[in-house]
Amino acid sequence: MPLERIQKLEEARAWQGKIPIENQYTAGIAGEKFLRTLQDKGMLLAARCPEDEIVYLPAPLYCERCFRPLQEEKELAPRGELLTFTILHRDLDGQSLAEPQVLGFIKIAGSDGGLLHYLGEIKAEEIKIGMAMQAVLLPKEERQGSILDIRYFRPIPNQTRDKGSA
Ligand SMILES: [Zn+2]
Repeated sequence: MPLERIQKLEEARAWQGKIPIENQYTAGIAGEKFLRTLQDKGMLLAARCPEDEIVYLPAPLYCERCFRPLQEEKELAPRGELLTFTILHRDLDGQSLAEPQVLGFIKIAGSDGGLLHYLGEIKAEEIKIGMAMQAVLLPKEERQGSILDIRYFRPIPNQTRDKGSA
């Protein structure tokens, strides 16, 4: 919840979409680079620690295990496997939503991390853990360097699992 009164419309951008899912991605230099890569290329920036062989996504500056700077970056296609999901019937203020919203955590193929985001183009009762999902992006000219440049993740047709390239 924003504590300050919003003075300009641009400042409200981060709060579009009822839930503040941008928070965890916008902080700091690494987050900025992640969002710029999404905006410019439609790709997700990951970083690999050669010592621990962990591929972080979104890419942080340092490995959480050995604290080495992470310089080995990878750009990954925005697709992966649905690990879990939840259906929201109320917004953060407790108001009933006109339509329930589905949020899912997608493990991005080729990484050890993933993204929490909306799921779309699927009925709630048809969602299954392990489904292969891909991001639906805004057209490039409409992207704003926000995690909401991804509109939502949708199932990849005729496929139940995405093993990725690893
Ligand atoms: Zn490490």
